Amino acid sequence: MHNKLVKFVQDIYQTKEFIPLHSPSFRGNEKKYVNSTLDSTFVSSVGKYVDKFEQQIEDFTGSAKAIATVNGTAALHTALYMAGVKSGDLVITQALTFVATCNALYHMGAEPVFVDVSKISLGLCPQALDLYLEENARLNVDGLCEDINTGKVYRAVVPMHTFGHPVELDELIQVCAKWNITLVEDAAESLGSFYKKQHTGTFGDFSAISFNGNKVITTGGGGMVLCKNAEMGMRTKHITTTAKVPHPYEFYHDEAGFNYRLPNLNAALGCAQMEVLPKFLQQKRDLALRYMDFFKNTDFSYFKEPDYATSNYWLNAIICPNSEVRETFIKETNAQGVMTRPIWQLMHRLPMFQHAKHGALPISEWLESCLVNIPSSPLSLRA
Ligand SMILES: *Cc1c(COP(=O)(O)O)cnc(C)c1O
Repeated sequence: MHNKLVKFVQDIYQTKEFIPLHSPSFRGNEKKYVNSTLDSTFVSSVGKYVDKFEQQIEDFTGSAKAIATVNGTAALHTALYMAGVKSGDLVITQALTFVATCNALYHMGAEPVFVDVSKISLGLCPQALDLYLEENARLNVDGLCEDINTGKVYRAVVPMHTFGHPVELDELIQVCAKWNITLVEDAAESLGSFYKKQHTGTFGDFSAISFNGNKVITTGGGGMVLCKNAEMGMRTKHITTTAKVPHPYEFYHDEAGFNYRLPNLNAALGCAQMEVLPKFLQQKRDLALRYMDFFKNTDFSYFKEPDYATSNYWLNAIICPNSEVRETFIKETNAQGVMTRPIWQLMHRLPMFQHAKHGALPISEWLESCLVNIPSSPLSLRA
């Protein structure tokens, strides 16, 4: 199978050279906009592109307020901060995620708690979440969800839309409401992904998108916080820009803020990338369909978007029949210049999270041992 796939991917991208998992493409107005920031000298914290980029994201996602940040991890940090996460709190997320989801809350002094993912979405499983809480939590006299052993508060639930596939949001929202826990979406990978026609990242009180170099669109480094209402959006903007009270020359800051604002230079790149996002999404969907067809009637199962969703198909994923087959597949494809890689190691295996509480993780463990990501760049990269 690995030899067949190598040939198939080389045909698709029409090259025998190294094919990465995901690379950016700059064939629109990227150079023009970036150069205009250089010409104007407004490369840093002042300039028109930041506002424009935020507006483009608001228009595209339907979010009430979008705030650009220096990267996706900073966006997550801000989202969790705005959701009221404090030192000593518990934050529930999936064991199967990229480490940034956990780093953000860890550095706030909160503790991650890991729950299994769903076979349908590869993201946080609503049933596993409810079961974990039934066994480990109760609502206290103040109506807060606390751990039955430690009394610590479960402050937020952070599902992650794995590879762009939306999680089961209706069900997760119900479980969060039942236990009075705030929903914060890690939508880092899911720009262009919709749950029942509504854009991911607009369901939680706050959510985070990433524009890292390997994401659907990139600003070099960058991120965005999506806020459920405009008032919280104003507060979020304030806190990410040193909490400076606007004044022509006085420096007065009314709380300890962050310096997380995205530079105008990067936002210029983002504005140009937003113009081509619909084209990228179409090309990624075409590629997904071709992979689906390729893996039909094989021992490998291609992971399709859930029925309720339109996914951006950020990274294509296949599930190998077993872990031995997977090891061979990864080794052989990489040796032939077609990049493939295993899904992330589960978070509770990493040294800094090894003592974290977690529920049973059968689906996460199965995916950890059998899933492979295969090349997913938009086809416009063809020579
Ligand atoms: C990319 C990513 C992030 C963070 O993004 P950066 O912009 O690299 O900081 C967070 N969570 C997930 C799941 C990601 O894939």
